Amino acid sequence: MDILLMGPPGAGKGTQGVLLAGRLGIPKVATGDLLRDAVKNATPLGLKAKAVMESGALVSDEIIMGIVGEELAKPSCARGVIFDGVVRTIPQAEGVAALLAGIGRKIDMVIFFDVTDQEILGRLEKRRTIEGRADDDPAAVQRRLVAYREQTAPVLAWYEARGGVTRIPAVGTVDGIAGQVRDAVGR
Ligand code: AMP
Repeated sequence: MDILLMGPPGAGKGTQGVLLAGRLGIPKVATGDLLRDAVKNATPLGLKAKAVMESGALVSDEIIMGIVGEELAKPSCARGVIFDGVVRTIPQAEGVAALLAGIGRKIDMVIFFDVTDQEILGRLEKRRTIEGRADDDPAAVQRRLVAYREQTAPVLAWYEARGGVTRIPAVGTVDGIAGQVRDAVGR
């Protein structure tokens, strides 16, 4: 089963993705985590992505599709994956659909975590004090929200037109939201 998690930064995709991946026994493909590892290890990919990520802008679709293609080719991903933080643009939606079609798969479900900007700002400020992510500073957060609104939000309509989107109001406790995800997925 291939499930795609969408939502603004700080919506809880990462937290809920870990729980869902654990329940389904399939890996999570989180491009943000893979990019952060590349930056930490100063790989050529990391060196290319670092400044863009810290500014709060989106890394190029070409880089992202390269990462996703590599991940999907791994044996561990053969039974499906949870996509977390990818897809973020329409070219990525098309690219992921094409990659999956090439291996006889498709996105089976899109889950959208719906949360207000006000809630997001509070959560990201809290995360900054805990994780110290450079892109959680207020200026970068503003740019990430703009990138989300301008480039990622239109992707929802793309999926609405192709099979639909399950919307979950992502407010309340982690357990409460996980319960709603479980009900939506059926597991
Ligand atoms: P995240 O942890 O998913 O919020 O990602 C952190 C940062 O990595 C983003 O603000 C982008 O700069 C970059 N990034 C992660 N995934 C993508 C993606 N699918 N497309 C473009 N940029 C991405």
